[in-house]
Amino acid sequence: MRTPEELTERFRALGLKVTPQRQGVFHALWGNDSHPTAEAIWDRVRETMPTVSLRTVYQVLNDLIDLGEIGAVRLGTSSVRFDPNIDGHDHFVCRGCGRVHDVHATAMVELPADHYPDFEVEATQIVFRGRCPACARITAVPS
Ligand SMILES: [Zn+2]
Ligand SMILES: [Zn+2]
Repeated sequence: MRTPEELTERFRALGLKVTPQRQGVFHALWGNDSHPTAEAIWDRVRETMPTVSLRTVYQVLNDLIDLGEIGAVRLGTSSVRFDPNIDGHDHFVCRGCGRVHDVHATAMVELPADHYPDFEVEATQIVFRGRCPACARITAVPS
């Protein structure tokens, strides 16, 4: 993701309004690797701008997705998560603490061409599920 300043310039160049609320969303996303929900971003923006609406936050998130600046990730949790990291990567979801980690799988996953000859794959995203090191330590029971 670009810096909040670069995003401001890009929005202006495209003729999109750059309001303090929009910039608040840029800042809430910048360097944020927690894969926040829209509500989590809203909470963060409201710390400094109590009047911003969730609707505005959604609008900015959708604009950023349309521009390819952030990704939307569906991880099988209740709501969509937003990801400022748009480099290809996979996710690990911890069932203990619920945290989402960026991970890089070692092997390419492919559809066997003999079974799916006419499918054109454009993207692959793998979701690993389990327990992160911290949670695995807490719940480890000697056998
Ligand atoms: Zn965990
Ligand atoms: Zn991610």
